[in-house]
Amino acid sequence: MTSTTADILISGGLLVSGSSTTKMDVAVTGEKIIDVSPHPSNIEAKRTIDATGLYVLPGLIDAHNHPINLDKMDSFTLSAAFGGITTVIPFMQNMRSRGIEGTTSETIDRFIEESNEISYLDFGVHAILFGDDDVEIEVPKLIENGIISFKMYMTYPRRGMMMPDDRMLKAMSLAAEAGGIAMVHAENGYCIDFLTDNFIDEGHTSREYYAKSQPRILEVEAANRAATYASVTDCPLYVVHLSAREVLDVLRRYREEGNNVFTETCPQYLDLTNDTLMEHGALAKIGPPLREREDNIAMWEGLQNNVIDTIASDFCGFSKAHKYAGGRSSAAVEAMEEIDENASIFEASFGGNWTEQMLPVVYEEGVNQGRITMMRLVQVMCENPAKIFGLYPQKGTISPGSDADIVLFDPAMKHVLSAEAQHCKADFTMFEGKEILGKPVFSMQRGKTLIEHGEMKSEQGNALYLPGDVNLTASAPKGHRVK
Ligand SMILES: [Zn+2]
Repeated sequence: MTSTTADILISGGLLVSGSSTTKMDVAVTGEKIIDVSPHPSNIEAKRTIDATGLYVLPGLIDAHNHPINLDKMDSFTLSAAFGGITTVIPFMQNMRSRGIEGTTSETIDRFIEESNEISYLDFGVHAILFGDDDVEIEVPKLIENGIISFKMYMTYPRRGMMMPDDRMLKAMSLAAEAGGIAMVHAENGYCIDFLTDNFIDEGHTSREYYAKSQPRILEVEAANRAATYASVTDCPLYVVHLSAREVLDVLRRYREEGNNVFTETCPQYLDLTNDTLMEHGALAKIGPPLREREDNIAMWEGLQNNVIDTIASDFCGFSKAHKYAGGRSSAAVEAMEEIDENASIFEASFGGNWTEQMLPVVYEEGVNQGRITMMRLVQVMCENPAKIFGLYPQKGTISPGSDADIVLFDPAMKHVLSAEAQHCKADFTMFEGKEILGKPVFSMQRGKTLIEHGEMKSEQGNALYLPGDVNLTASAPKGHRVK
């Protein structure tokens, strides 16, 4: 570029992609990146942002989150933005269990409409399919509307969430036919219920029995079964939130046999153990459960040797009271006189708020500790999720023609994670007090400033719905391969 003037020039930073870290200037005009050239470039711009001493990263993608509780798309995306995320892919499902009528696609239509109004960030959508969904109608219809990924739970039968195996096979074959991708929460729900019932019968409902009620073998069994079904139906498979050390070899084997198997883990499975649950009880109850240090180490190794492709948050925004109160209604929670920290662990709600702390934790424990490189971080938090879900190269990369979603990251900034400092409504974090060296300090979405000087500079109502493109996915014949 020589003669034209760009709107914005990000000058002198270290641009990180999945394959290099180089000192580059990035030019943005309108919503797009128009030029990436070695620094110092001779690009003229109306505004120059000095990125000296900072990493320049593609905006991160959080491809696993549930903004349907206390935190919805407004406060969830606000929190995510402060964590260096510029694109989110939330899960949406039929809400019949909450008394809201409508099919999955109707619920998703409403969700997109509402998110267009309240989200701070561009968003795709994954569908969750339950046993009562008419998958023959829903799967093709959703794919046509750009919802190309379908999550199924292999657990929670009593919560009405588990997908029966025969329906899972049907959904996978329909998804495969139309270029979609199946996602699974891999845990054996019948075994979990069996073990849980036994503990409850014996009066063992304190926190120490939680991890014992959902052992690693149940994740391994379910992941193996899901990969078998995906292989039989020739359906691409994405296994969410890996947590058990043994599951990696199982999924690697399917991949080596030529199956399209993709995998994800989360910051909590990289950095926290059952000790956190023993300390905080219900607040740290998640499914799969926090496991052992050996499992954290295995997840890092999985990231190092490319068995794990992505890191996402599995965000669910609950207040402390909601966590302790389990499935009770909001009114019932508000009516609670006091929180009983020693109530049955089996009654507590699943889930935690992890999105804002995700990049700081992965950077601190991954890059600062020498477990992964900055380039690998960009692969697993930017490039790979965009590729797997058909959003690349619009999202996930800093390249000419891509959306100008850019994060500046200061590797020298110290900060401490806390509930006080986070921007979601949830009033706790399991990373409370964790010291971090390195922080996202600036971000933009499609050329418009999001975060600057510790403040949200954008408004709700600018977000774009991002339909996934089945021809671009990592599993499509001519798609973008993950690294
Ligand atoms: Zn989840």
